[in-house]
Amino acid sequence: MKKVLFLDRDGTLVLEPHDYQLDALDKLEFYPLVFQYLSKIVQEFDYELVMVTNQDGLGTDSFPEDTFWPSQNAVLKAFANEGIVFQDIVIDRTFAHENQPTRKPGTALLGKYFGGEYHLSKSFVIGDRITDIQLAKNLGAKGIWMANDPSLGATEISNSAEALDDTIALRSTDWAEIYQFLKSAQGRSATVKRTTKETDILIQLELDGQGKYNNHTGLGFFDHMLDQLAKHSGCNLDIKVEGDLHIDEHHTIEDTAIALGEAFRKAVGDKRGMERYGHCLLPMDDCLATAAIDFSGRPWLVWHCEYRREKVGQMPTEMFHHFFKSFSDAALCNLYLKVEGDNEHHKIEASFKALAKAIKMAVRRDVNSRELPSTKGVL
Ligand SMILES: [Mg+2]
Repeated sequence: MKKVLFLDRDGTLVLEPHDYQLDALDKLEFYPLVFQYLSKIVQEFDYELVMVTNQDGLGTDSFPEDTFWPSQNAVLKAFANEGIVFQDIVIDRTFAHENQPTRKPGTALLGKYFGGEYHLSKSFVIGDRITDIQLAKNLGAKGIWMANDPSLGATEISNSAEALDDTIALRSTDWAEIYQFLKSAQGRSATVKRTTKETDILIQLELDGQGKYNNHTGLGFFDHMLDQLAKHSGCNLDIKVEGDLHIDEHHTIEDTAIALGEAFRKAVGDKRGMERYGHCLLPMDDCLATAAIDFSGRPWLVWHCEYRREKVGQMPTEMFHHFFKSFSDAALCNLYLKVEGDNEHHKIEASFKALAKAIKMAVRRDVNSRELPSTKGVL
């Protein structure tokens, strides 16, 4: 599904003229840094751009068309020259007192975006008036409020700014900050493809997921454990492995661990705003598993798990140490695992579930924070 940035024009892309009507080229002044950061937004993220603007009385004596188009066309051309192209431009021409549903915050001109093709809850309205925020609410989107003058538009809506608090994702008048915010709002994900003469692996990981999984390694019990990892961490995990199982299980398990660790290392990114540490003490019938993780940027494994059986399903139990060691090496995380109990299947499953819960805690992130969880300044 497509995501949209609904962009107000006056006060957002260009500065609002003193008389609130951009009807002459000498009144055209672009918003500071808008080219630099909107250009990065277009290049780095996956949004459709839609300009939504109220132009009061356009086409009437108070705002003749021929005074509007020269500056509108200059705006569009200047943005296009920087690679910033609007997929749709929606202009309402009515006055506020007419209370038309076509005028922001009304959505009558935006019907096509409700059609199911668009992910409105992941879309944003960026604008300088509280009516832009009300539009975000009416669309089921979030608002970024560039409130240089918070009183603008206040008389056109019945809600107060406080009542729209849940819709305001960010309040900022700075395009650099808006870019950083949108960067944080992107889901963290990674795709890792790893092909050797022994295995061919494709992993897709979404950290900010819903615990969905689709794992096929050729080893039933291993798939079951990887499914637990996804389900209880809240990450979405899709793993496809073609391994040399005609030899044995070793390469398939080891290489999946390496690729999975690499996927986590890539997906956590610069770790800004992230918890970093996670831990869990997890019971399962006769067993108690402890897992703790630190996405520290360094590998380490502390291992207090012993097994009596040689295999569970098709998996040699010695391979669990190897799996977690390889994962920790590739993810660059410290990992502590301990399990007590009698049933070997339970012990292993409890370990994976405990690790999943620890990962869930560690990767939790405040998208509004740029704080690095380290006093060292690098992680
Ligand atoms: Mg505006």
